[in-house]
Amino acid sequence: SCGFIKDLEISETLEEVSFRVELTTPACPVKDMFEEKANEVVAALPWVKKGGVGKSTVAVNLAYTLAGMGARVGIFDADVFGPSLPNMVSPVNRLLVVNPESKSILPTEYLGVKLVSFGFAGQGRAIMRGPMVSGVINQLLTTTDWGELDYLVIDMPPGTGDIHLTLCQVAPLTAAVIVTTPQKLAFIDVAKGVRMFSKLKVPCVAVVENMCYFDADEKRYYPFGKGSGTQVVQQFGIPNLFDLPIRTTLSSSGDTGIPEVVSDPQGDVAKIFQNLGVCV
Ligand code: ADP
Repeated sequence: SCGFIKDLEISETLEEVSFRVELTTPACPVKDMFEEKANEVVAALPWVKKGGVGKSTVAVNLAYTLAGMGARVGIFDADVFGPSLPNMVSPVNRLLVVNPESKSILPTEYLGVKLVSFGFAGQGRAIMRGPMVSGVINQLLTTTDWGELDYLVIDMPPGTGDIHLTLCQVAPLTAAVIVTTPQKLAFIDVAKGVRMFSKLKVPCVAVVENMCYFDADEKRYYPFGKGSGTQVVQQFGIPNLFDLPIRTTLSSSGDTGIPEVVSDPQGDVAKIFQNLGVCV
């Protein structure tokens, strides 16, 4: 009741947030406390905390949806610098094992989905330069004994660099799903991603516009405006667009290690992922 947060701006990397506090009572006695609280609230927003658009969230929920449809599924977390998979699932065995005879890597497993992530390699955060990273990714992907799979969902790191080229060369990708947030600047990155996949002849089958809206008081709010997903779909002729809501359950499922589509298989988010599953 003391004031409002105004002119909220989020940086291109989603890591910096600025806002203005407008007091309704100019001589508000708790002005400092209000500002401090507002800072705390903004810093606690999930995407500010982590700075991602939700690629891992989408990859993991898509994989578990496909598994729920009866497919044999693996997830390859290709983010060497900030692997998210270990936080999003809860395998009993949190370390990858190397078969001493064949020297192949055995994936760990959670609810029947095979998992490989640099975060399960037990070496902490990576300090590596470009060619090394490509080498490590290549090794993790190709020396893993995946067994028979119907789908391998690859959670790509952000950007359009060497790692992406390596992955496209090493694995015959059959479909790409682009994940974005409604901010306009994210749109520029997405356009780059779509161009990269089109050069590499990997069809982009869907765009997921994440953290797009939330429902409150029986109304739907679009806090960042509507649009970048639709622009991408129109501009590049991508056949499917899915809007994902901002949900505490989606954010907390990242903390609990149980994907949302597993904990609430009948929920609206699970239905969105089922439709996405049909596209891939
Ligand atoms: P990326 O893989 O692009 O880095 P993540 O999937 O790790 O991004 O998501 C970044 C943060 O935002 C995580 O804490 C995640 O739980 C949260 N998050 C992602 N999507 C949503 C959503 N739709 N609603 C609420 N929180 C979300």
